[in-house]
Amino acid sequence: MRRPVVAVIMAAVVSLLNPMMIKTDAYASNTTSTDNVYEEWESLGKFKLTAYCNCRKCNGKWAYGPTKSGVMPVEGITIAVDEHVIPMGSKVKIGDHVYTAHDTGKHIKGNRIDIYIDNHSRASDFGVKYAEVYVKR
Ligand SMILES: [Zn+2]
Repeated sequence: MRRPVVAVIMAAVVSLLNPMMIKTDAYASNTTSTDNVYEEWESLGKFKLTAYCNCRKCNGKWAYGPTKSGVMPVEGITIAVDEHVIPMGSKVKIGDHVYTAHDTGKHIKGNRIDIYIDNHSRASDFGVKYAEVYVKR
């Protein structure tokens, strides 16, 4: 006589839990969790970072023109890379920020990245930094 009662209670508990479980799964799949970083982003190791703007001092004869990839540089997006290390157009993560490899530079060889900043004095103030760099494969 007890078994059917237990079964009914179990069925009730399961039906109560199910919507919660579905909700949790949906939340997890919609969240861009940092756990995904390790699946999608490949570390290229530590890079030397500098910054440049589009002025004649920074860019010589290419000043005020488009980047190597043909698009105009945009602060917060554009970086210059060594094409042998990072292919043009790659998404590149430095810290929490994702940039796009739009440009190259005479001095940007190997593990070096030049970050585009829209203003010469702010680009100079950036100085030299080192950070681990990730590329999206
Ligand atoms: Zn400049």
